[in-house]
Amino acid sequence: MVDQRRAERRQAGLVLALLGAVILVVVALTTPWHALPAGAPYVPPDPARDFTPAEIARAAAFDAAVGPPAYLSLGLTVLFAGLLVATPFGAKVLGVLRGPWWVRVILGVLLLTAILELLRWPLGVWYEIQLRDFGLSTQTWASWNADRLKSVGVSVVLTSIMVVAVIALARRFRRWWIPAAAGAALLTVVASFVYPIVFEPLFNDFRPMQAGPLRSDLLAMAARDGVPVEDVLVADASRRTTALNAYVSGFGATRRIVVYDTLLKAPADEVELVVAHELGHAKYDDVLNGTLIGALGAAFGAVLLYWAALAVRRRTRLPGSSPLADPLAVGVLMGLVSLATVLSGPAQNLISRHVEARADVHALDLTRDPAPFIAMQQRLATTNLSDLSPDVVEYVLYASHPTAPERIALARSWAELNDLPVP
Ligand SMILES: [Zn+2]
Repeated sequence: MVDQRRAERRQAGLVLALLGAVILVVVALTTPWHALPAGAPYVPPDPARDFTPAEIARAAAFDAAVGPPAYLSLGLTVLFAGLLVATPFGAKVLGVLRGPWWVRVILGVLLLTAILELLRWPLGVWYEIQLRDFGLSTQTWASWNADRLKSVGVSVVLTSIMVVAVIALARRFRRWWIPAAAGAALLTVVASFVYPIVFEPLFNDFRPMQAGPLRSDLLAMAARDGVPVEDVLVADASRRTTALNAYVSGFGATRRIVVYDTLLKAPADEVELVVAHELGHAKYDDVLNGTLIGALGAAFGAVLLYWAALAVRRRTRLPGSSPLADPLAVGVLMGLVSLATVLSGPAQNLISRHVEARADVHALDLTRDPAPFIAMQQRLATTNLSDLSPDVVEYVLYASHPTAPERIALARSWAELNDLPVP
């Protein structure tokens, strides 16, 4: 029995090492580490060159205002997760629940989510007040609370599916981590595929862009780019924010390019650049690639759960033989997933920043017009109050895109490389 268990752990360890190696190789090979070709001149990012002292000061003031609630919320999430994986807190709280195991699991997810969300709610309110003070939010408290409840609802549903599945597998199979890894990968792919049609409509309405010269120009550009785009969708983001944004989501049959309605007030050549950037994401299948890396990461995480649960079983008072087979394990599971999400964030951001830089280069290659690119970056940064010079911690934790000064520097480097006048 002991030998069998030891063999199982060895197998899980081997699979973990293998999956880890595959992820590293896939990330190393698919991440565009150098967005510009070799020989591109280095242009240092310089906020003072493109932003006025007043704009720089305003961005810094906003950063200082939202920093405390953002960091406190992150700290609270990590602390709560730590409590769940390093103490019997979860088992104690969940011990009050009664009923069949799967009912206790779902109620457990609901209960722990409710506790964490209640603690984080005031910090969310604090953050939202800052957004309003700086004119970034257009929401009423009723709609803000409704949004928040909807997000919590989505998270409870997805977490319940995951936790019920893991515990069901752990109750049924000794080597539950094998089907759990396969299931986690599959669920990641399915969730990413259905995201635009299942989850996005919960928060926004989407309509096809109004017929007119802008729409015709954008579709002509997509055709020139060889990216099959049937439509550009406009999201009614203005009922929530004044911020400007656009994105690509889904893949295959669900792929869509979405622009915020707030963006449409910008000059047409700047909107065109934003869409050209999104076409870059579509052309390189960035959503699909990200999903596949996410699926490998989810499989890795599932096997890691098996190891981590064994490591923390005593501290959290879970049964030794198969700790995750017990409904009391909901807390450990949620805590571990939450920690893994926070810890993998910097790696995801690192990859994302390179992918974003490639999309920027694609936009420049397609439009060959760096001046509106730079104008658009200025507009995005000043409207969204983007951090123009984040410190190392902010950059590592939160920067999914290069900063505006970095993106502008890239455009200048691109212009020099292509012998075009440098704006
Ligand atoms: Zn992008």
